Amino acid sequence: MIRINNKIGSLAPDILLVEGVAESENLKTEFNNGAVQFTFISTIYGHKNVKDRLIELQYGKCCFCESKIRHISYGDVEHYRPKGGWVQNEEAINQPGYYWLAYDWDNLLLSCELCNQRYKRNYFPIINEAQRAINHTFNIENETPIFIHPVFDDPEEYIEFNDNEPYAVDGNARGNITINKLALDREELNEHRKRTLNLVIDIYELAKGYPDTNPIVKNKAKNKITKYHEAAQQDSTEYASMLRCFFRKNPIDF
Ligand SMILES: [Zn+2]
Repeated sequence: MIRINNKIGSLAPDILLVEGVAESENLKTEFNNGAVQFTFISTIYGHKNVKDRLIELQYGKCCFCESKIRHISYGDVEHYRPKGGWVQNEEAINQPGYYWLAYDWDNLLLSCELCNQRYKRNYFPIINEAQRAINHTFNIENETPIFIHPVFDDPEEYIEFNDNEPYAVDGNARGNITINKLALDREELNEHRKRTLNLVIDIYELAKGYPDTNPIVKNKAKNKITKYHEAAQQDSTEYASMLRCFFRKNPIDF
């Protein structure tokens, strides 16, 4: 997980500012009239313009697991604060959800289907439940969410990698719960990251010159590993966070 720097201060697509704002007002009125369940219009929050903008800002990567998703699936427009109902731990879904944020640009991210539908679902744990924003008259600024936000937090402060496996820095609770609930250490993901990392390790070792690398090969490997290092600094690179950790522990100082 890395910070989505491109989304900081970015403008919301017009569809959210016009139809989204109008629909939010309708939902607030419905709530004031006693509703706790709502119908959400996916053609607004999931409109092509919204999705395309998220794909562009996130380079087609899942906001949580950093997998490039577009070559195998459409990806989901995911609500950081769940719109239909929330779960603090393992209890039944609490309603209403964060209905007033269903069309809020700050609440929308691109995620892979597994992170969103299989793991995150309605989970939205917060530190102090007494501060939960349970309807639109509450201020979400008073909540302290446990899930690391990929725009408003810097995920790399909370989650680092031992080789291909993520861990919470100093055992911090936000990192731990984010890893566990979103299964950022799931087997298939670990395997896929391992394949990416192994390639880098092979080139790194050749470049470093052991075992006694042929000088021509060594030079080629050195150029290649320098390119991998540069790529790791780019937010567009798949699993950039893991690769940055590798290069912090294994600097190119040879
Ligand atoms: Zn994902």
